[in-house]
Amino acid sequence: MIRGRFAPSPTGDLHVGNIRTALAAWASATMSGGDFVIRWEDLDRHNSSDRHAESQLRDLTAVGIESAETPLVQSERFAVYHAIIDDLTAQGLTYECFCSRKDIREAAAAPHGGVVRYPGTCRTEAGRERVRRGSDRPAALRLRGGEMSETFTDRLHGEVRGVVDDIVLRRNDGIPSYNIAVVVDDAAQGITEVVRGDDLLDATASQVHLQKLLGYTTPTYAHVPLVVGEDGERLAKRHGAVTLADLAAQGVSADEVRGLLWESLGQHGNTWDWSAVPRSPFVWR
Ligand code: GLU
Repeated sequence: MIRGRFAPSPTGDLHVGNIRTALAAWASATMSGGDFVIRWEDLDRHNSSDRHAESQLRDLTAVGIESAETPLVQSERFAVYHAIIDDLTAQGLTYECFCSRKDIREAAAAPHGGVVRYPGTCRTEAGRERVRRGSDRPAALRLRGGEMSETFTDRLHGEVRGVVDDIVLRRNDGIPSYNIAVVVDDAAQGITEVVRGDDLLDATASQVHLQKLLGYTTPTYAHVPLVVGEDGERLAKRHGAVTLADLAAQGVSADEVRGLLWESLGQHGNTWDWSAVPRSPFVWR
């Protein structure tokens, strides 16, 4: 039985691209007799708010997406993530990193397809001391990735092999990272299928590596192509009417949006078929 989830960050209104991904996650799970939950990934305490969580929930409900359980809230689980990070540290699997974003960009030679991987500067004692001396920044904590790769199964991309990065587990402001929280919570919630935007495809090998270190089962993935504007860029406010509220103001109902998105996912009727989902971005006009 599939147990799926949608895990938005409550930092603004959902746009039709987010809702389309949520619809795929919900339909794949529930239309095969499984269940589906919503989770709030609100680690970013500056931009997350209850008001946004409420409006996102209202929009999801309006298109027929409901959580089988009260949504789990990541900001209430910092102690859980910290304990797991401390445990990985006790096993010698992490190291302190003093690099700034700029240091990383400059040192990351030949990024693959625009993905900047951590160049490993602070992985060694000598490298770390050099950066520490030139920095007044507190340390972030990174996972010792070990320059390996991991393979996972994706319903749209097939068998994917990706490089494991030395991901940040605890940011230098002391907050647990997205990568640790998502892995811990997918396991804690018994998620068997992760449907999300394909902008996270490159992060998946590192998450799978972390799952293995923590003894978790790796879920099946489905990285859905994003919705883009007519300029080919990822959908955003500047593309015009992109939220349910914008569209309602133009006389387009939530039901109509749902129908449009359902069709854009290659679906007809009340069943879900992954093989019909288009493999290229959907252009919102
Ligand atoms: N919270 C992430 C986002 O809003 C989604 C993470 C995930 O689905 O794994 O982009």
